[in-house]
Amino acid sequence: MGEVEKRGEHAPAPAPADWTYAPAPEGRDIVTLRERYGLFVGGEWLEPRSGEHYATISPADEEPLAEIAQAGAEDVDLAVGAARDAFSNGWSSLSPSERAKYLFRIARILQERSREFAVLESLNGGKPIRESRDVDLPLAAAHFFYYAGWADKLEYAFPNRRPRPVGVAGQIIPWNFPLLMLAWKIAPALAAGNTVVLKPAETTPLSALLFCDVLRQAELPPGVVNIVTGDGRTGAALVQHEGVDKIAFTGSTEVGKAIQRELAGTGKKLTLELGGKAANVIFDDAALDQAVEGIVNGIYFNQGHVCCAGSRLLVQESIYEPLVAKLKRRLSTLRVGDPLDKNTDVGAINSRQQLEKIQELVASGEEEGAEIYQPPCRLPEKGYFFAPTVFTNVAQSYRIAQEEIFGPVLSVLTFRTPDEAVEKANNTAYGLSAGVWTEKGSRILWMAQRLRAGVVWANTYNRFDPTSPFGGYKESGFGREGGLHGLEPYLEFDGAETFGG
Ligand code: NDP
Repeated sequence: MGEVEKRGEHAPAPAPADWTYAPAPEGRDIVTLRERYGLFVGGEWLEPRSGEHYATISPADEEPLAEIAQAGAEDVDLAVGAARDAFSNGWSSLSPSERAKYLFRIARILQERSREFAVLESLNGGKPIRESRDVDLPLAAAHFFYYAGWADKLEYAFPNRRPRPVGVAGQIIPWNFPLLMLAWKIAPALAAGNTVVLKPAETTPLSALLFCDVLRQAELPPGVVNIVTGDGRTGAALVQHEGVDKIAFTGSTEVGKAIQRELAGTGKKLTLELGGKAANVIFDDAALDQAVEGIVNGIYFNQGHVCCAGSRLLVQESIYEPLVAKLKRRLSTLRVGDPLDKNTDVGAINSRQQLEKIQELVASGEEEGAEIYQPPCRLPEKGYFFAPTVFTNVAQSYRIAQEEIFGPVLSVLTFRTPDEAVEKANNTAYGLSAGVWTEKGSRILWMAQRLRAGVVWANTYNRFDPTSPFGGYKESGFGREGGLHGLEPYLEFDGAETFGG
């Protein structure tokens, strides 16, 4: 027996000197990028009439990925025309079970190609591959499956109300969940018998463009879904187009308000899913270690680029110190870096513009007197990154407690009584979501009745399900996506009065 084998048998292996994770990058090869993309209109790729293109990049290293078409008003007009033709010439009168077949196909293809989509989503948007793989992709497919199931049951979903499709839907989505927001918009619209013109965000168009390939694979009739890329001007042209019957928008409150003003008096239907500044409320009887996981998930998931992020932590005074100590300890274990590394917890900030917005708001927090904590972590030299951040000593009036930062930045406030928790939680212009952590079921219900938020999570956070409606109060917008509620904005009803409602 040789020396080495003998040692292997009897002597314990020496303990590693370095416990840091080795890199575990997901391969990029599964994604094939074109050099240049056109607009997907009427089932074909068209060069933009505008003649303009722009580069889309990877925010993790600023590498240019592809040239993207900048659609102008004429291009939007073509896309709306294609959607109108498809609506009038077959899609709206297709038997509902046939419509369902296409949606089921799309859902299955998304599942089959999920790794390809997950890599592309992380590459173009900066989110950790673990999240694209385990959250964005399964949920996007689940939305298509869910609404496929409703397509031939609308009359049962809305009994005695004779639902019929609205027509052409113009859909504008943001950059934080590009494919998932596309699914939230397209699945219910198609299930209800509408056709669609969708504009992805300027910085994250690639997964929507790959989705066009899925539509072809599913043999969806041409023109039922049209994708027009470009910046805010493209979105504005879609909003203004007279041939659009309904606008669905997810994005900033500022742009949402401008769209609402634009559409006032036009008779077009509108749903707005806008910003948030959610309170995550921790009572002193909560399971603290679980709460810490919920807090971390609430604000550092997707670099905090989440409209329902738990960005204001409200902690009952008696547990403030142990909770903040645990939270800081947990922060030091978060790994910030390459979005395509399977060990990464916090990826890249989506754009330079967003990074600058976060930096500006964080500077304002320090100037106003809050105490900042960031765990020691080395950020990559290239690309847009921001360390997970916690602010303590935050007053309700500070900008970091009022404004949506849309980054990995948490503001900690305290309360003494449940009434005070409710008052502080509701002290915001927004009303999208909230979290409550306590072991008492009665207290959860008491809080949920008083929190002015579209979604209230109890002893969990950031849980999504296609069956559950999602949407806001106040400046977080109106209308619901998900569940049966998510079909209603894509339907018109008659007969309700005849049957007594
Ligand atoms: P925007 O509201 O500008 O973007 C959302 C979508 O609307 C994008 O597709 C955008 O295009 C498009 N758009 C921009 N201007 C117009 C317009 N005048 N008419 C129609 N569509 C338009 O958000 P930003 O990307 O500028 O982000 C700014 C802030 O908004 C963030 O820091 C965050 O606080 C908040 N936000 C909230 C989101 C949410 O889910 N609630 C999502 C994204 C942002 P383009 O991408 O080309 O600008």
